[in-house]
Amino acid sequence: MTPLRLHSTRPLTGRLAPSPTGALHLGHARTFLLTWWHLRQRGASVHLRHEDLDAGRARPEHQQAIEDDLRWLGVDWDGPPVVQSRGLDRLQAALAALHARGLAYWCTCSRAELRQLQSAPQLGELELRYPGTCRGRWSTLEEAEREAGREAGLRFRVPSGEIRFVDQVLGPQRFDVQATVGDFLISRRDKTPAYQLAVVLDDADAGITEVHRGADLLASTARQLLLQRALGLPTPRYHHFPLVLDAEGRRLAKRVDSLSLATLRAGGVPAERVVAWVARSAGLSVPRAVSARELIHEFTLERVPTQPVRWLGTLD
Ligand SMILES: [Zn+2]
Repeated sequence: MTPLRLHSTRPLTGRLAPSPTGALHLGHARTFLLTWWHLRQRGASVHLRHEDLDAGRARPEHQQAIEDDLRWLGVDWDGPPVVQSRGLDRLQAALAALHARGLAYWCTCSRAELRQLQSAPQLGELELRYPGTCRGRWSTLEEAEREAGREAGLRFRVPSGEIRFVDQVLGPQRFDVQATVGDFLISRRDKTPAYQLAVVLDDADAGITEVHRGADLLASTARQLLLQRALGLPTPRYHHFPLVLDAEGRRLAKRVDSLSLATLRAGGVPAERVVAWVARSAGLSVPRAVSARELIHEFTLERVPTQPVRWLGTLD
């Protein structure tokens, strides 16, 4: 595997990339504040990108609400926000190029068929490994859809072996994508480009050198590295922040209403108290209320805990 290409000569550029599928909650506030502090303290540009490819759940009205929440927190960005779904043409061009080079193939397997192929039933929300059923099966999209009688998705042909990278928060990482995930979808059956491809192209187009996000996306980084290599795109530095969990160890996203920033704000909670809670969760000693801007130069990436943070029911 070729070593990571480092791009120290490119201007430091990072991004905030919310999905407009609902309200921002405390967990999002934490990720975005840590991101913003780490970027702004080094003079980096900050892009805002709404990742709205999940057409079933993304809503334009959430975009405005997210921008309002970020401003309320004291988080700003440079230039107009980008909306992911507005750049579909170049995503389709990249998909066509990968297929033309033999790096992707059409797949007509249904989810039910894939479940039956598993030798042991998987538990919970674990992703099913795709066993490569359609590798070399169809020569064209038309043939695949005619013979199978259903729409086809496009899968990336994953090489075997480990992918290694160093996360700036969580340290050295290794994933065997072929052994755990298999060839993964880069275009869904409705021909919408999948998240993994969209995020790689969007980051490259925006000149992103720094990716910050929640640790729930750590494993997908290996897939994105594979796509970057296949497409000849640079690899940013990755920073994954551990999630915020409630007292029962569940992700805060499951109880978004009670801990949404909009609910806190409507209840008269000042943004400065949310900021102070986030700062303490990142190892800073701060007063009960503090503005985001005051902490730009106080924040230290090295102090961010590498374990999930517990929400104990109070901002104090
Ligand atoms: Zn298939």
